[in-house]
Amino acid sequence: MHSSESFPPIQSNNVSNEYRGRFAPSPSGALHFGSLVAAVGGYLQAKTQQGKWLLRIDDIDPPRQDPEAIDLIQRSLEAHHLFWDESIIFQSQQSQVYDDVIEWLQQQGLSYYCQCTRKQIHAEGGVYLGHCRELNLGSHDHSMRFRNDAESFEFTDALLGHISFPKNIAGEDFIIKRKDGLYAYHLASVVDDIQFGITEVVRGADLLYPSACQLALFEALHAKPPNMLHLPVAVFSPGRKLSKQGHAQPLRDKLASENLYLALAFLGLPVPATIMHDTPENILRWGAENWRVGSLYAKPEREMASFLSQFNCDHFSY
Ligand code: GLU
Ligand code: ZN
Repeated sequence: MHSSESFPPIQSNNVSNEYRGRFAPSPSGALHFGSLVAAVGGYLQAKTQQGKWLLRIDDIDPPRQDPEAIDLIQRSLEAHHLFWDESIIFQSQQSQVYDDVIEWLQQQGLSYYCQCTRKQIHAEGGVYLGHCRELNLGSHDHSMRFRNDAESFEFTDALLGHISFPKNIAGEDFIIKRKDGLYAYHLASVVDDIQFGITEVVRGADLLYPSACQLALFEALHAKPPNMLHLPVAVFSPGRKLSKQGHAQPLRDKLASENLYLALAFLGLPVPATIMHDTPENILRWGAENWRVGSLYAKPEREMASFLSQFNCDHFSY
């Protein structure tokens, strides 16, 4: 035991206080238009601040992964001229840090084992009410939860403004390590954001609620949470986002220019039709020159059909 015992075992590698953003796809399939919107938004937000834009592959859930996806994602980003900085971060290589943090949380009394099944929690209304908090259960066949004692779950989003979730929803003791031994998304994402010195998280507004939950974990880990910017999410219809599981069409890399043009328009930028068939590089250059967070489409969702009806683009499927 040493004197730094009460500090969490995560070393931030942001030494120079530079802007650092990241794009963090899960390799469950190829990128689709919704993922491209998040990538373009994060890329431009970083590049217009002379910042770094990192690529993190969230490969901590092997059963849901497609072995080809990591390659497809990289190729697709390259085809769209979305070049990331530094080497790719693979969550599958971060186990040691996650374990160290989990151990530290345990030592601090900030986690506990839980025996409740999904079914039981569902029967109680879907939100975990802390049933196992004081039971002192052992690890055997149990999941591990974060003891969430935070009081407020609010933040200012750079695009959507003041965001607030009630404590009885966002204050849940969420799972940090699953019963099957896999690390949970909240834990992995927060630890990585701290370690890789992420100063701003730019992602889809489908993650507004996770963002509110994650704030408590940043605090418990003595870290200043990154700034938040949640972009409009592409939906088929209200609440039904384009997703790999929802069978959204993979991006067609051959149409990179058109895809980029549409992503910028989707984000709300007044992109002139004349550049639609320009090179990806030039379209992104236009995006950087005209990037203003204040002129983005400031709603959590945007419906694809009504968005696309403004364009004559039959070749584009989503
Ligand atoms: N990999 C997750 C996703 O694709 C999380 C992304 C993030 O934290 O930005 O939804
Ligand atoms: Zn429980």
